Amino acid sequence: MRAEGIETVRRILCVFPRYTSSFGTFEYAYPLTDGVQAFMPPQGLLLIAAYLPVNWPVRFIDENIRAATKEDFEWAEAVFVSGMHIQRQQMNDICRRAHAFDLAVAIGGPSVSACPDYYPAFDYLHVGELGDATDDLIGRLARDPSRPDHQVVLTTKDRVAMTDFPIPAYELAEVKKYFLGSIQYSSGCPYQCEFCDIPGLYGRNPRLKSPEQIVAELDKLRECGVTGSVYFVDDNFIGNRKAALDLLPHLIEWQKRTGYVMRLACEATLNIAKRPEILEKMREAFFVTIFCGIETPDPDALKAMHKDHNMMVPILEGVHTINSYGMEVVSGIIMGLDTDKPETGDALLAFVDESQIPLLTINLLQALPKTPLWDRLEREGRLLEEDGSRDSNVAFLLPYDQVVDSWRKCMAVAYAPEKLYARYQYQCDYTYAQRLKVPVTPEQKSWANIKRGLIMLRNIFWKVGVLGDYRRVFWKFALGRLRRGDIEGLIASSMIAHHLIMFARAASVGQQSASNYSIRLREASVPAE
Ligand code: SF4
Repeated sequence: MRAEGIETVRRILCVFPRYTSSFGTFEYAYPLTDGVQAFMPPQGLLLIAAYLPVNWPVRFIDENIRAATKEDFEWAEAVFVSGMHIQRQQMNDICRRAHAFDLAVAIGGPSVSACPDYYPAFDYLHVGELGDATDDLIGRLARDPSRPDHQVVLTTKDRVAMTDFPIPAYELAEVKKYFLGSIQYSSGCPYQCEFCDIPGLYGRNPRLKSPEQIVAELDKLRECGVTGSVYFVDDNFIGNRKAALDLLPHLIEWQKRTGYVMRLACEATLNIAKRPEILEKMREAFFVTIFCGIETPDPDALKAMHKDHNMMVPILEGVHTINSYGMEVVSGIIMGLDTDKPETGDALLAFVDESQIPLLTINLLQALPKTPLWDRLEREGRLLEEDGSRDSNVAFLLPYDQVVDSWRKCMAVAYAPEKLYARYQYQCDYTYAQRLKVPVTPEQKSWANIKRGLIMLRNIFWKVGVLGDYRRVFWKFALGRLRRGDIEGLIASSMIAHHLIMFARAASVGQQSASNYSIRLREASVPAE
């Protein structure tokens, strides 16, 4: 559904801000690809773009791909911006640039919804999800696109049902320039982990699209040229288990109909390991990766952060079960918890070895607004001002330098090339071997796809296999893959491994932030106009 009943025409420029360099956006892998420049198409802005009145021309720019230009701003009558806390500086910069053209600028999305006071310069703050605030904003701009005298805050009280969401305007994004495709089925999570802002922002009772909407979105993504991997950005894919079970047969049908053109990935709680009926269907739908917020292998810490549901099965057993359905586990890990001890880093490294998980996003604890953690630390006087000098706004119980040193050591050891490639080797031998054997599709056999693969292989062989200083480790892995004819596995593992190795090296000497969420302003790069 779209906003309706608006006669006036307005030209809207939607600008998605650059990401600050971070572990989870894989930018070190991009030079090995055939032209990838950004992580995932942003769901929020593309959804708003699709919701705008049908007669409103929309231009979408992702500044991770190219900066909005003078011509873009001159074309527009109003500018929409959306993003996360980590993009705060860049969002404020877009506002400044748009104001230089005297354009009204509206901001929506998770960051402003949690922290409206981060954005004093914007003309319109859209707080909350798609709903009556969105209609109000559109109505105001239709009546008068000029900048209001003072900031207007519009807060959604009545949300649009997700079953009424239009298909995000994927056609406006240069989808081939993204590392992954993205799609959303549900929003919200029933749990209340202390550090997480999802329940506060999106509720504990997951809202859902219909399976038919998801099938239509997959068709559209495919039409727009997405092949390869598509990530369900849902906060917790099994937040509503029945809904997941309702959707999966549709995904299986879609994959069969299209010849398994897409590899699927999602985020889910580790207790998915207790649901073989879901895991089996996910295998059939060709899910190949699940991101699980394991957070810590320490049961006391899980209890303290109210993440007991991670202990419904022993963690290593849970990871192994998921692997047995052909799905690699990607894990979130947090350091700097109140329960951490001097030996926590070593325990974590032992867990990395035992779990054989190749990719773990290891972050320092950061308190996000609208979380129980934020409230508790505020009460305890342990919330620190973010002045760019620290990697976290939390006053840890252990000395800060000790926590950061431990994080750096963990990054350096976990992502030493020998260790990382050994974990990937395990995944090839065990996990990937359990995957559905899918047919080779005409798309995969097409010259365009073969050319793509050849470009990536050339880049990997040259930049890693010839110029890379860990080439001996690489070739040991690569020759094994080549002997088995597993070119796809070789490309995928090598690209991710390269990012992890390079990022971890920068991190271990203090050149990368220890938190994906902290706002280290000095790190943020803003593109030139
Ligand atoms: S399970 Fe995940 S999404 Fe849900 S509250 Fe915990 S961290 Fe947040």
